[in-house]
Amino acid sequence: LTLLGIESSCDDTAAAVVRGTSGAASVLSSVVEGQTSLHAEFGGVVPEIAARAHAERLDGCVAQALSHAGLTLADIDAIAVTAGPGLIGGVMSGVALAKGLSAGSGKPLIGVNHLAGHALTPRLTDSPSYPYLMLLVSGGHCQFLIVRSPQDFTRLGGTIDDAPGEAFDKTARLLGLPQPGGPIVETEALKGDPKRFRLPRPLLDRAGCDMSFSGLKTALLRARDALVAEKDGITRQDRADLCAGFQAAVSDVMAEKARRAMALYIELGPIQPVLTVAGGVAANKSIRAALETVAAEFGAQFLSPPLALCTDNAAMIAYAGLELFEMGQQDDLTLAARPRWPLDTSSPSMLGSGK
Ligand code: ATP
Ligand code: FE
Repeated sequence: LTLLGIESSCDDTAAAVVRGTSGAASVLSSVVEGQTSLHAEFGGVVPEIAARAHAERLDGCVAQALSHAGLTLADIDAIAVTAGPGLIGGVMSGVALAKGLSAGSGKPLIGVNHLAGHALTPRLTDSPSYPYLMLLVSGGHCQFLIVRSPQDFTRLGGTIDDAPGEAFDKTARLLGLPQPGGPIVETEALKGDPKRFRLPRPLLDRAGCDMSFSGLKTALLRARDALVAEKDGITRQDRADLCAGFQAAVSDVMAEKARRAMALYIELGPIQPVLTVAGGVAANKSIRAALETVAAEFGAQFLSPPLALCTDNAAMIAYAGLELFEMGQQDDLTLAARPRWPLDTSSPSMLGSGK
């Protein structure tokens, strides 16, 4: 099967072509046009600007994805598109284009949950069998999921306030570092002493897999202000130490909660237990190392897709569409764009999942 994927739910306009079968597919092309510079002066993604940019760029991205793959629309078996959750203007642009392409070509249309795209990415890159455990951790999301099939996810817990990527970004802002904050805070942390500022480990003692990151930012703000009051500013070393303290706190919390998620998952008796991570924050080496240690403690394999497939992209949408299509899912022109669309509709705690 050859699927075209379309993604426009946040601030990346993307299209991709994926070919193969469930658990054995490869990426023929993947085009991602970011919008960081468009939103830079506003300090965050502006929905109206994002929607307009998606509408302008989607056609071009699709044309590029097809041409990079050496294909035309006639060679495509089905069209997969992110139908939510996300910023509604962007999602609508993508869905409208996908419907147009489907109606014009007669190719089947498949609406994909953006989070399912992230959660199924390891099946595209490493083909773990179901069920596997995933920590989905990005700028807008943070949750532990048991992935049982392309349509069956159990949410074990997640952040009750900020997503970690957001916390990294706010930390950078507090310390006068540029956006996106994750990579630069990580670089600074390498030069710092993680023990100098002992930041809190929120919810560490509470049972379950829920996490909280907004208190960390307040603690960091206090530590910074204390330094400023003491000596009229912070030195480079202070800044590096604050970054290191922050990153260590996030890594510790994630590792401990991953242990609990792992214990719940292992109870299901998976034949080859697998812990995977996806989302932009999966780029963080300290967090990765902490999770890898947890996987090893449980004799589980640790998988982390390459970064380009961890952050927003359309290859993951095409691939999730492929698995859904194999299972018989097809949508028609009534497919709706959904601003909210939790993966696990059985869990009452899904409401704390960020977006
Ligand atoms: P979502 O996918 O949930 O809609 P998003 O598009 O903001 O949100 P991603 O593109 O997956 O998320 O990831 C971006 C986030 O990852 C940013 O918050 C960024 O700071 C963070 N990030 C990137 N690299 C690192 C890193 N090395 N360490 C920590 N955080 C990082
Ligand atoms: Fe995403």
